[in-house]
Amino acid sequence: MTSLPLISVTDGDGATARRASMPPRHLADLDLAGRRSAVSDLGEQAFRATQLSTHYFGRLERDPAGMTDIPAAARERLSEQLLPKLLTPVRELACDDGATRKALWRLHDGSMVESVLMGYGDRVTVCISSQAGCGMACPFCATGQAGLTRNLSTAEIVDQVVYLAGVAQSGVMGGEPRRLSNVVFMGMGEPLANYSRVIAAVRRLTSPAPEGLGLSQRHVTVSTVGLVPAMRKLAEEDLSVTLALSLHAPDDDLRDELVPVNQRWKVAEVLDAAWAYAARTGRRVSIEYAMIRDVNDQPWRADLLGRLLAGRLAHVNLIPLNPTPGSKWDASPKPVEREFVRRLRAAGVATTVRDTRGREIDGACGQLAASEVEG
Ligand code: SAH
Repeated sequence: MTSLPLISVTDGDGATARRASMPPRHLADLDLAGRRSAVSDLGEQAFRATQLSTHYFGRLERDPAGMTDIPAAARERLSEQLLPKLLTPVRELACDDGATRKALWRLHDGSMVESVLMGYGDRVTVCISSQAGCGMACPFCATGQAGLTRNLSTAEIVDQVVYLAGVAQSGVMGGEPRRLSNVVFMGMGEPLANYSRVIAAVRRLTSPAPEGLGLSQRHVTVSTVGLVPAMRKLAEEDLSVTLALSLHAPDDDLRDELVPVNQRWKVAEVLDAAWAYAARTGRRVSIEYAMIRDVNDQPWRADLLGRLLAGRLAHVNLIPLNPTPGSKWDASPKPVEREFVRRLRAAGVATTVRDTRGREIDGACGQLAASEVEG
């Protein structure tokens, strides 16, 4: 069995060494009031904060050179202090005729993270990272294998979205400008282990421009291994974001292995926290379940899952396992998957199977492992 990872349910940045590698402050770290006082502290007029914000969030302009309504001297001073370069694109890969694009970034301290942009008929979704690496050690997930490097700052999280919203707007996805509509925290990292920065990022993404990007809260999904105290805290935030719970097994014996944090918070506790979230927000919780051949895909596990979820505000999202390099596990055969779906639906549980977008560019669920791609 994989050993229990070290978990902080608040911010997880206890180590001084790690804090030292956090990036410089960026305007997306601050709300509009904070930006106004930062601009005043720099000896500029406070309304410059709104101008900067309109460029960054309203026009998706990340380059100070494009902010021509701000006089050059002020622009230089402000951009040095409030628009440091956080993400350096190292590689961008496309597949599905350009409808899926993966970006690999280098951060200021050399850490690497990835994001994936996916265009569908009616929506454009970006899958973003909340940490460099991950400390949750799920044995089937590529990111989990290398451990946690550090938390991302709020602005490092937001800047992935703003950058890729700009890519979508530029028309490279199918020749027409597309507007980013959805954000999922399903890239690298455990979002609820970087709690305060992720919440601040959600607020930036969902505040109307120029304070933020103006996305609908309902179109933001926060996915978690099940850090129960943080899930309960999230329910109190007055945010109607979608909560996704990576369950992957309906029984503690198996979940202890697949999602090691289950050794701390058991299936019953984590589902209780999910139902409390659903009750508080009125939002249906998404139950994520990677289908792993002969591991968690047996008919009796479908029936047990069905019994746990029947009558609840829940939706099951089955993810065909993306085998990671060197893994002993494989995806379930399609007939096994179909039978699993049939049994869940027979129990009255809404169930869908996730498409495996981005697989050929290692951009699908659980494949993000930037350090390996680097070489
Ligand atoms: N740490 C968060 C978010 C990141 S992973 C979480 O665990 O929820 C996003 C989803 O991809 C999770 O449900 C995760 O369990 C799943 N996943 C990880 N590795 C996978 C793989 N190899 N194949 C399919 N899904 C995987």
